[in-house]
This record gives sequence, structure tokens and C-alpha cells, in this order.
Amino acid sequence: SLRELAAALAQGEIGSEELTRHYLERAQPHKQPRNAGLNCYISLFAERALAQARRADERLRKKQGGPLTGIPIAHKDMFCTLDEKTSCGSRMLDNFRAPYNAAVVERLDAAGAVTLGKTNLDEFAMGSSSETSHYGPTRNPWRRDRAPGGSSGGSAAAVAARLTPAATGTDTGGSIRQPAAYCGVTGLKPTYGRVSRYGMVAFASSLDQGGTLTRSAEDAALLLGAMAGFDERDSTSVERPVDDYLRDLERDLKGVKIGMPSEYFHADNDAAVGAAAQAALSELEQAGAELVEIGLPHSRLSIPAYYVIAPAECSSNLARYDGMRYGYRCREPKDVDDLYCRSRSEGFGVEVQRRVMMGAYVLSSGYYDAYYLKAQQVRRLIRDDFIKAFKEVDVIVGPTSPTTAFPLNAHRDNPVDMYLNDIYTVAVNLAGLPAASIPVGFDDGLPIGLQIIGDYFAEARILNVAHRYQQQTDWHRRTPPEFA
Ligand code: GLN
Repeated sequence: SLRELAAALAQGEIGSEELTRHYLERAQPHKQPRNAGLNCYISLFAERALAQARRADERLRKKQGGPLTGIPIAHKDMFCTLDEKTSCGSRMLDNFRAPYNAAVVERLDAAGAVTLGKTNLDEFAMGSSSETSHYGPTRNPWRRDRAPGGSSGGSAAAVAARLTPAATGTDTGGSIRQPAAYCGVTGLKPTYGRVSRYGMVAFASSLDQGGTLTRSAEDAALLLGAMAGFDERDSTSVERPVDDYLRDLERDLKGVKIGMPSEYFHADNDAAVGAAAQAALSELEQAGAELVEIGLPHSRLSIPAYYVIAPAECSSNLARYDGMRYGYRCREPKDVDDLYCRSRSEGFGVEVQRRVMMGAYVLSSGYYDAYYLKAQQVRRLIRDDFIKAFKEVDVIVGPTSPTTAFPLNAHRDNPVDMYLNDIYTVAVNLAGLPAASIPVGFDDGLPIGLQIIGDYFAEARILNVAHRYQQQTDWHRRTPPEFA
């Protein structure tokens, strides 16, 4: 865990440089053949990382280190990293080196963490499988013929396979929680506005939020504490003090009310997924929590609303990739129209183009009211369902995804099937709430995730419930056999 690593570093049992070298070695497929084929990393920052590690060792020697000083981490390749590649998994940005650091990168750098490199993802974070990356798919470390989930699949798989102690991710509709579930790690998506979006490449700005992928809730608490906070460079960042997420971890669950939405426990879930979620709830009940049945009546509308709103915002955000200013430019354009058209057709993959087209369509005059405006109204109803539920309960719990990790290419010919995977996660982003996914069992060797949704800014409560569960169980400690 990050705490154990921090203790070892503080006591000088190991140096950050040694630790960083260990992870850099482990993450390089050509040096460690058994790691080949997972394809978790798009880039490794060996020189930058070792320089950071040496500075951390200096601070640790002078006893000036904090809890993250010298700890290696990886960033999803959606966060800008100064002078280093920031690709978003796209050919469009294959040649892009960011001129500044994202706020999240800045904060973790300042806390003394060491950036190993950038992890693989669905192109521009659009997807649920990490298969649409320009750099090829990431594979699930539990079974290589399975997808790791997405879009933060590279981060989740790297944490699961111990190619990094922890990683950042982004979550627009489930991209931290669903890959955490499929890879058997702990994923936390904070409240919208808790973590600055400055320098996090925009997909759907009203939904995007940065968060963590770690091995435990305790590690998530540590990392979130360093990432969260007000940032005036992000106009939706919330000016509100950051909780001490470690302080309340141990709090007793006696009297905590856990809402079970009937809409999240239905027959379409894999039987093993439903059973594992039920078993986890019994575990929490034994720990003193009280289970309450609740309803989220508009949840069936969350997929259609999300897949109107997210593409609409995406089509607007991605208009900046025009082949002119930065990013990919086609060869020998005939004229300016040809330049725009071919740069975008050649620079973006199929899924991104589909989203841009859908988004442009739902925003076009004549369709705006029928689709975009309607979706925004539905979004409000979904949010109101949650607000009502949180008057009665402290957290809401259910499966993160209806299935375990699906085979690679399973949804290649049917994007709607892929979208349906997000049935339990997208509503949380539409409402702007925080939520985590934690491992609660296995089916046929593949991990099962439980989603814990909290009220606005109640990350500490989510982490408390998750931590108490993890103290009683060991699902989160399991490692794919090949990577143990
Ligand atoms: N799977 C969802 C999508 O494809 C969510 C992606 C995300 O959270 N970045 O849009």
C-alpha cells in the first residue's frame, strides 16, 4: 500500500530512486516479457522520473518528506505533462507535448510523487473497454483475452498488475469505476468540482472529473487529499476546504444507512455479480450499517440522456483539433476545407468521429429541443432522484457494472451494447456526485466491483464505508497470479 511504501521510504529501508527503477523495469515490456501484451503504458518518463526520485530522496534524507514523497505513480494520458507526450490515446495528439502541467500533475509533483509515465485509454476517454486507443488495446491482467474496462483501463490494469502503486484516472460516465471493477482495484470519482480540471483534456466538460485508481480505500484517501482543492483556473472548481480523508476512515458503521436501489438489482445482472453485491451488503450490515430499499425511478433514462449530452459537449470540445494550431495535420491538403476534413478524418478514430457526429446532430437547429434540451431536463430528474434518496440514506450501493470483464472485441460491431455497460455509472456523473468502486468477489477468475455512491462532497463517507469493508475482507489484496 502507499502507506507501507511511505513508511519504508521514511525509514530509509528503500530509496525512491530504487523504487522508481523497480517500477520502470517492471513496466517495460521488452525487459519484462511477462508484462508484454498488457499495453498499460503509452509512455514512460524514465529520466524525469529518476530526477524526481533523486529530489525526493534528498528530501527524505533531510526528514522533510510528506506521505507521498518519493512514491511512484502513473497518470492517465488525459492529463497534460509539461514537455512530455500527452496523447489522449489519439493519433490527433500523437505529436503533442503539453506546454504546461495539469493541476493534478502539479499538485502530485508538489507532494513529492514521482511520475512513472502515462497510461493507455480509449481515444479521448470515449469508451468502456480501452480498445479504441491509437496505441492498441490494453489487456486485462486477470485474463489477457478480456478488456480491462475503460476508459481508464491502462491505469486500472497497471495498478492491478503492480506496474505502479497507484494511478490517476478521469471519469465522465464511469471511466474510473468500471475499469476498477473489471481489474479488481479501488477507483474513486470525486464530486464534480472537487478536483481541478485545469490541464485535463476536455471530453464532456460538465461531466469530466479526475480521480484515483489504487489498491485500497486508504490509498485513495491519501491520494485524493493531495489532488483535491480549489483552483481558480477551472471555473467549475468549488471553493470549499478539503476534508481530511484519512481521519474518518476507521469510523464505526453503526447507524450508517445504506440505500439499495431496486433499479440496480435486477435480472439483467450476471448472477454472480448480483450475488457478490448482496454478499457485500450483508457484510456491511454485520458491520453495523442499516440497509434501506430505495428507488431511483429515472435511472433507466440515464444512458439515453448521457449519450446525448456527452457527445454534444464532445463535438464542441473537439472542434479545436482542426489541423491548424496543434496536433495532426494531413499531408498535402488541396485547400483549407480539405485540410480540416482530412486532418480530422485521419486524426480521429471511428468512435470519436461517431460521437462528434452525434453531438453535432443533437445540437443542430431543429433537433436541439427534441434531443439536447430534453436530455438536460432528464438530467435534472435524475439528479433530483438522488437528492431525494440522500435525504434518507448516507450512501447508495449496487453493482458497478452488470457483468465482469467482457472479451476483447465483444462489442466491436455494436456500439450501443458497449454503451449499455455504463448503466450504473453514468447517472452519477449526470448528477455530479462522488462514487467509488471496490472489489467484492470473483466470477470465473474475473473480479466483481461494488459501487458506493455518496452525497455531494461526501467522499470521506464513501471511503469510510469502503475501508471498513476492506478491513473485513481481502478481495482488494488479491493480485493476478502472473503479477504477484
Ligand atoms: N463509457 C463512457 C463513455 O464512453 C464513459 C467514459 C468516461 O467516463 N470517460 O462515454
